[in-house]
Formats: sequence, structure tokens, C-alpha cells
Amino acid sequence: MPFLGQDWRSPGDQWVRTTEGWEKLRLWRLKVFENLNENVVARLIRLALTMDLGPHRQTTERRQPYFFFNKGTSREKKELTSLSEALLRLDMAGAVKDIRRSNFVCKLLQLILENKFANLSGTAQKHIFQILEATINEALRTELNLGWARELLSQAQKGLDQGQNYHIGSQCLWERHHALVCKLSNQVAAYQLKQRDEDNRVTLSDLPADCIRSILYCVADHRDIIHTGQAASKLQDFSQEMLLWRELCQYHFSNRQILTFLPSNVVVGKDEEEDSIDWKNIYKRCYKRFGKKETFADMLAMCTHCCSIYWQSLGHPCISDVEAKSRVLSPEDFIKLFPL
Ligand SMILES: [Zn+2]
Repeated sequence: MPFLGQDWRSPGDQWVRTTEGWEKLRLWRLKVFENLNENVVARLIRLALTMDLGPHRQTTERRQPYFFFNKGTSREKKELTSLSEALLRLDMAGAVKDIRRSNFVCKLLQLILENKFANLSGTAQKHIFQILEATINEALRTELNLGWARELLSQAQKGLDQGQNYHIGSQCLWERHHALVCKLSNQVAAYQLKQRDEDNRVTLSDLPADCIRSILYCVADHRDIIHTGQAASKLQDFSQEMLLWRELCQYHFSNRQILTFLPSNVVVGKDEEEDSIDWKNIYKRCYKRFGKKETFADMLAMCTHCCSIYWQSLGHPCISDVEAKSRVLSPEDFIKLFPL
């Protein structure tokens, strides 16, 4: 008599025919995420840029903003590079329109606004506020990075209040900064998130569970994971999974940092004990103590041969014939180059 029960090899699974034969749909989807190599990601970014920019497409033009950094004065070199010149030459206001560089610019603005902004020259202040205005306008236009926009405006307001009595530059200029921050804050406050129309197209919650997990595993900011969980009840459970928070802990913190908050009776590697660990709580405590790792899609770099500072993705016209080495500059490293 034939066996009529469920297929014991994989009950309820769907199969898909691939070039290598039949494969479980669930595993095949995982493979798609794992095979997102550099070329595929580069193609997706190119597609996203051309789709998003539309009429602003000229900004993708391959211009190479860079400048030669003068470390100090000598008989031959009299000029020092100023911060305002550096910001202008690196096209910071234009960089906020590039999805890869905008986070770097936001972090740089935040550091400048919270550290001795009042000690900057009037010209540098003007440049900073031009970049700030461009950042806010871009955030409102693309509806991306609005969290950054609010954070930067509150930081700018704080910086202006702190430097009210001892700033460099005229009082009139300082008043103008106040008025601009006020105008931009009102624009951001008046912004209403547009609800997506009922277009019967796929949303994040419609995706299969393993796809949602794979996407969440690529998110580096815990706030995005929490907000995703708040967006739909189906996503809430995914955002609470301990495995996800464990991955996030391991991405942002070193083993030594994690061990600081790991219960002493737990031995990492023993599954039954690891199940009882509240990784979300460990992440929270590590984040409060150590801060999270900053990640940027594109960063500045300094050429060791010609001392040019340039965007890594755009490169620079080097005078060296051989391929010169370069040193990556984080926003903190970049600011340290200029005496503030
Ligand atoms: Zn060079």
C-alpha cells in the first residue's frame, strides 16, 4: 500500500527550479542574500541613484572634489588650508545629495556644531550653515535622514545659545544663523510623513519571514530596527528576536566589551545557556557605556604621496605614477587636521 502521508523530507516546503536543479525556496532566498556581492550591490546603488535623482542627475557627474592639504608653513608654502576652504573644495553641500556620502557629512556637521562652533571664523560659520541648509532640504525632499535633520538642528540651536556671548563674527551674522535655524526647524516640524497609497504592491511585511530576517540583519542602527518593529505588528516579533540583537552586539562591540555585561555564569558557545541571555539588554548597556560603531558607505582619505584629501569613491588625480597608498579619515580625524 502506498504511503500517503506528508512528504517527510520537507513537509510544506515550496521548491523552485534553478540552474543547478530543484532547490527549497526558503534556502534559495537565503542564498540570494548571501550572494549579494560587491558587483550586485554596486549595480543596485547605481540603479537607486539614477531612479532617485531624476532631474538632479547632473550631481552624479564624475567630478572629483579634492584639495592639497598643507600641513604647515615653510619658505615655499606660506598658506595653511582653512576649514572653510576644505569644506568648499570637498563639495560638502553637494555631497549631502549622495546617499553614500550624506551620513559622513551629517556626522562631520554634528562634531563641528558641538565642538567650539563659536570659535570658527565667520566664513567657516557661513559654510557650515549652507551645508546644514542643504542637508535639511535634501532630507525633506527625499524623506531620508530626517532623524539626522532633527538632531543637527537641535545641536545647531544649542551651539548658538552657548556661543551667544563670545562668538567670532558680527552680531548680525549670529542673528542670521538663529533665523535660519528657526526657519529650518519650522519646516521640519511642519513636515508630515506621507502615507503610502494602497497600490496593492508588496510591502516589507508581505515578504517571507526569512527575507525579513535577512533584511533586518543588514541594518546597523538599532533605532531603525526598533522603528521597523513599531511600524507593523507582524514586524514586532522579528525586531525582538534575540539572535538579531546578538548579531548587532557582535557587530558593534568587541568580545571584551560584551563580556563586561554578560552574566558570569554563562559560557558563550553553550546553546542551552545562551538561550537565556537577554541580548537586547546587553546591547543597551554596551551602547550606553561604549557607544556604537560608526559606519559610512563612503569616507574621506588622504593620499600619502601628494597629501590630497578626497572622497574614496571619487578618487583624485594623483601626481604619482604608481598607485599611491592612502589613509582613511573618519570625521574625527578630518576635524583634527584643522585647529579649531
Ligand atoms: Zn595622490
